[in-house]
Amino acid sequence: MQARYDKRFFIRLASILVVGVIAIVGVALRQRPKPPTPAPDGVQRQGLALMGDILAKIAPTGFGQSRRGQRLARVVRGLAARGRVVFSADIAPQALCRHEHGQGMLYIKVLRLGHKLVHQTPEEVAEGLFHEAVHMCEGHPAQSRIDEECDGYAAGLCAGAALVGRTQPDVLTIEGATVAEFVAREYPHLSRCPQYQPVGQSREWLARRTGLR
Ligand SMILES: [Zn+2]
Repeated sequence: MQARYDKRFFIRLASILVVGVIAIVGVALRQRPKPPTPAPDGVQRQGLALMGDILAKIAPTGFGQSRRGQRLARVVRGLAARGRVVFSADIAPQALCRHEHGQGMLYIKVLRLGHKLVHQTPEEVAEGLFHEAVHMCEGHPAQSRIDEECDGYAAGLCAGAALVGRTQPDVLTIEGATVAEFVAREYPHLSRCPQYQPVGQSREWLARRTGLR
């Protein structure tokens, strides 16, 4: 009798474990969406040429020569050299970074115009590249914070302005709001991270340029 009870008990325990494992794997798979589909080869080549052109134009500017600009450009170049900058019409934001199989991938959006795929403006691509490079420096794109997002937007704005030769105001703005106000509005789920270290700059600089309090 005891033996039968034990057997039933273990069968039940085993089925609970199996169901549990299936549920955990299911959740893990759902949380990890599939990688965005790359645009066709021709679009990819055009995009990489555009990126090379952008980096070359930014390099001699004040931003490009700064420690921050140099470090971020190095991140983008390093990713591109390893085939980890991908142009895709399959993403909603302007740019996106993901970790796939332990490797950082930087995706830049390509726009659909009827049946054609077209690149964003060089300024928009520059913004996306340098914004995501900030996240890549941190190495944890999935766990972004308010401070890191402000750093990313500030880098993108400075890179875009450097590319087209536009002077930026002391406090950087997006859509009429300071970067910090914009980030707080667009990313209400993110929290502050007082120990966050901006890329190649001080926290004081980040606060002054983005209005982060
Ligand atoms: Zn970001």
